[in-house]
Amino acid sequence: MSLVVQKFGGTSVANSEKILSAARKAVRAHQHGHQVVMVVSAMGKNTDTLVALAAEINEKPPAREMDMLLSTGEQVSVALMAMAIDSLGYKAVSLTGGQIGIKTDSSHTKARIQSISTDRMKELLDEGNIVIAAGFQGIDEQFNITTLGRGGSDTTAVALAAVLGADQCEIYTDVDGIYTTDPRVLPEACLVPRVCYDEMLELASLGAGVMHSRSIEFGKKFNVPIHVRSSLSDAAGSLIVDDADTAGLVVSGAALTRDEAMISVMDVPDVPGTIHKIFAPIAAKKITVDMIVQNVSDDDTTSISFTVPRDEADETVAVIADVVKELGGTLAPANIDVSKVSAVGLGMAHEAGVANRMFRALANADINLEIITTSEIKISVLVDRGNALDALRTIHGEFTLDKLESDGKENESFVPAPREISAVDVIERLQVIGMEALTIDDIELDDTQARITICKIPNRPGLAASLFEDIAKQGVFVDMIVQSFNNEQIADITFTVKRDQLQEAISVAEKAKETYGCEKIDYKERIAKLSVSGIGMRSHTGVAMGSFEALAEAGINVEMISTSEVRVNVVVDGDDANRGLECLQQKFAAELES
Ligand code: ADP
Ligand code: ASP
Ligand code: MG
Repeated sequence: MSLVVQKFGGTSVANSEKILSAARKAVRAHQHGHQVVMVVSAMGKNTDTLVALAAEINEKPPAREMDMLLSTGEQVSVALMAMAIDSLGYKAVSLTGGQIGIKTDSSHTKARIQSISTDRMKELLDEGNIVIAAGFQGIDEQFNITTLGRGGSDTTAVALAAVLGADQCEIYTDVDGIYTTDPRVLPEACLVPRVCYDEMLELASLGAGVMHSRSIEFGKKFNVPIHVRSSLSDAAGSLIVDDADTAGLVVSGAALTRDEAMISVMDVPDVPGTIHKIFAPIAAKKITVDMIVQNVSDDDTTSISFTVPRDEADETVAVIADVVKELGGTLAPANIDVSKVSAVGLGMAHEAGVANRMFRALANADINLEIITTSEIKISVLVDRGNALDALRTIHGEFTLDKLESDGKENESFVPAPREISAVDVIERLQVIGMEALTIDDIELDDTQARITICKIPNRPGLAASLFEDIAKQGVFVDMIVQSFNNEQIADITFTVKRDQLQEAISVAEKAKETYGCEKIDYKERIAKLSVSGIGMRSHTGVAMGSFEALAEAGINVEMISTSEVRVNVVVDGDDANRGLECLQQKFAAELES
């Protein structure tokens, strides 16, 4: 018998009428012969209301009590939903996270799922019940109630679909599906009928709030097709599936993280271990760091900037203050007036010139870029908060994301391919690795590249655009790009190219030096790019950290870093290529095996 998981978000259960309408959807699926598990969020804005209420009483409420409070929202919804199903003449049983047996770690307010027991749910389903599970919550070893982080009901839904071996996970929400960007921010956004897990992982973690990014980790790990659709209409919606089933657009979406903060650490020793010392205390607080850029050192010191979510800026500064002092460096006040705008697309990995198109469009809109980072399938730029919306619209328009014309009709006939992983395998795998434990697929060495840095160039709109346009004209394929930021008007731009195209790239850099006046061109003919790839690389802060630690212990200096949800890339000196690879393989041996 087939099984579907249907998740209903806050707006889709905001009042009794909507609860009844959601109940009817579940009953319909049940009538069609499916077993149905519903996952339900708190009604409407109930979670926000509870957060505000807590803040009125205590500025810094204890995290354990916060979870106790927030979990009540979902408890209300599941009970009402069970009553709704009963009123339609069908059997239903509501369960809290604890009653299902969703075991998590003890990181209150951002707990990760460790295991889920399926026995009780299966028994209830076999008895003909619709099972109604509270989203977003679990319990830890000591039976404390935990929550999975805001938006976490999506993660509950996909996790249940994975362990139950469901044929599909349907996410019912208040939009028709996945759009090229948040349609409430840009009304010209278009529906994307299919995105692949990797694209959605990036989009979700870069600000597309439609899905909790950890839910996509489950989808990818356990190959669960996710169908995002409207609870208000019967529109065909969007599918999040394996990349083989998508069109592989060059850019398939744009995302905005409005509230970022940039932290800059200046004049720390440019020696192995510095990066690890700075990021270890941040990772220990489970703060997710993004856009890490490092200046090429003039003398024997270097400066490092990175971004963190704005509301975690103060904590970040506090936890690294001592280390920075010990290292003899200085910590600039956090810049909390910045936003991150990103373009994501699977096709980008193979098509040259995507970055310079994006930079040119932004330059034409007179938007200055503070920091640039790229990885295989995304380009992110950091801009002034005041320019964020303009930047998003510019990028969205440049890649004609406002002109996609599908209504997703083709999804109506989508038949999910047989799951490669059976439910039994899932359970077995989970016993070995734990549900949200880190999964690493591969550790690779790319020993074919060279690095070029244009040091201390005046940072003004159009600079990156002209530079990378000229490079593209020479037919040179640029892999990693990092623009770091020295002070108000000065930037360093570092990028990597294939070693046999180094000369062409240097001649373009020399031309830029003449045109703009920079301090010097620095290059290294042989660098090694080490990549750790898997799932949830950025949100598992431990991967970047483990890599920095292992390299520091081996006395290997880190020259460039880029992180994404599916990969952590670290550039080291070419002479350290094989040693670097070996020490990462050793470090992650256990995760690689499982
Ligand atoms: P739910 O309560 O159903 O979980 P959310 O508010 O968490 O709903 O997510 C749906 C919202 O996500 C939409 O109303 C929309 O404003 C926002 N959103 C952000 N990015 C996107 C995107 N790329 N596509 C669709 N919706 C998006
Ligand atoms: N109710 C929780 C929240 O608002 C979880 C969810 O809706 O996904 O964040
Ligand atoms: Mg949500």
